[in-house]
Amino acid sequence: MLGRMQDWPLLVPRLIDHAARAHGAREIVSETVEGGIHRCNWADIRDRSVRLAQALARLGVKESDRVATLAWNGYRHLEAWFGIAGLGAVVHTVNPRLFADQIAYIANHAEDQVLLLDLTFLPLVEQLAPKLSSVSHYVLMTDRAHMPVSSSIAGLLCYEELIASEDGDFAWASLDENAPAALCYTSGTTGNPKGVLYSHRSTMLHAWCACMADTLAIGSLSVILPVVPMYHANAWGIPYSAAMTGAKLVFTGPLFDAPTLHRLIIDEYVTMTAAVPTLWLAMLDFLENSGLGLGRLDTVVIGGAAAPRMMIDAFQRKYGIRVNHAWGMTETSPLGSIGTPHALANDQDPEARLDRQCKQGRSIFGVEMKITDENGGIMPHDGCAAGNLNIRGPWVVDTYFNSTTGSALDEEGWFDTGDIATIDALGFMQITDRAKDVIKSGGEWISSIALENEVLAHWAIAGAAVIGLPHPQWDERPLMLLIRKLGAEVAAEDILDFLEPRVARWWLPDEILFVDALPHTATGKINKRALREQYQGRNFA
Ligand code: AMP
Repeated sequence: MLGRMQDWPLLVPRLIDHAARAHGAREIVSETVEGGIHRCNWADIRDRSVRLAQALARLGVKESDRVATLAWNGYRHLEAWFGIAGLGAVVHTVNPRLFADQIAYIANHAEDQVLLLDLTFLPLVEQLAPKLSSVSHYVLMTDRAHMPVSSSIAGLLCYEELIASEDGDFAWASLDENAPAALCYTSGTTGNPKGVLYSHRSTMLHAWCACMADTLAIGSLSVILPVVPMYHANAWGIPYSAAMTGAKLVFTGPLFDAPTLHRLIIDEYVTMTAAVPTLWLAMLDFLENSGLGLGRLDTVVIGGAAAPRMMIDAFQRKYGIRVNHAWGMTETSPLGSIGTPHALANDQDPEARLDRQCKQGRSIFGVEMKITDENGGIMPHDGCAAGNLNIRGPWVVDTYFNSTTGSALDEEGWFDTGDIATIDALGFMQITDRAKDVIKSGGEWISSIALENEVLAHWAIAGAAVIGLPHPQWDERPLMLLIRKLGAEVAAEDILDFLEPRVARWWLPDEILFVDALPHTATGKINKRALREQYQGRNFA
């Protein structure tokens, strides 16, 4: 027997239809690449997303085709999210901070058909275009007045003209809720970036959950400035939840400096904002130096890397702003756990409360968590035992996009996050280490393996290991340990010169040390954990 309720597929375009119907006049404010602030509302976003879908269909985009974006947070990017998903295609948000070759790799791997790009990225895309094998149309997300006089990209299209040429007489695709809606690549693992293909259903469930009081508490009265980029883990799903509830959105465009963020927070009456710790450090400095306050802001969501205790304390004690420390991954859409208060926590003592807030929070309903030892045995939730953090739930990845190795889950459906964590009796999880061999700098990944591979191509290098060490501003920065070949003379500067054309500038190690040997594990791998312990106290600043 089945229940006798309506079958109403959970589809992303329903969000934007609802937004236009229920709170069409609620504002969307964007700093723009062209300069100046743009204002529109949810009804405009729907109208323009329908016409974008119509235009893309005319360009030949079909269901499940990938349409890539290389764009900052802004109203056009928001329209693209809804228009592309509404057409039944997949919005592939490309991270512009990746090294150019990696961008080409993921665009080709995703087989992107169309690329929508902000003006900022035109020089990059002009350089990349010859390598992009599947892209047949490039659309510059601007108006005619800002189109370049000439470009090496033949037939470069103007976004505003595309939209203006459509009449909006277009119906959203009728889809299965498990159809794909969005694609995001993560380099948070070894090897090439991997694509996480979100479904309409997973996106909707995640959006619903983010609105809950004990999650992000997004509602009609919220004014949200998501500093987290729409190209990295869906801006933590905030745009979808905002459409669901009628929250006002404020977008920073290409601007991330503290004075701009502060101006937007004050002028637009922002109540909630979200970003990686690096950005908040700059904001706290700015507030300290200027003596200014934060207007109506009441919640700061910090995630992507561990929120330092002093940061949580400063926001709460000095500015009266609640800090919500969150943990998640591209693979988890991304919300996994969040540090909202627990009725049974009994943290009367402010120091104990702060200690708890330094943890990465408790799992959100819909994300189950467990920690395991190296044999897969369950470890106790006593807040002391640290093990591999495994998770499962309806918005957690199953299989990476076009993976040749099958499902990423074990037989019981658990996904190993690569994080090492403790879980206490109330379910508060704390990341204590990382098993995956990567470094997170300013919220973005540096692959230590990729750096090692590059440097091992140097004629004078016999062995290499790269580890991440804590850094006060960037959370982590790379330290490179090298073994010289016998008799070879090479200095750190030579290595930096060698690496510079091969990796993104911000990947270059902060320090290079020459050593005689590197420690190995029982299985013959370089023992990164031992190295991290050995160099723990080293200060980059
Ligand atoms: P990404 O897929 O780029 O969003 O990165 C996900 C990874 O970032 C996680 O597996 C963690 O290693 C790290 N991460 C995310 N949030 C936090 C946090 N609050 N504290 C510590 N590490 C975090």
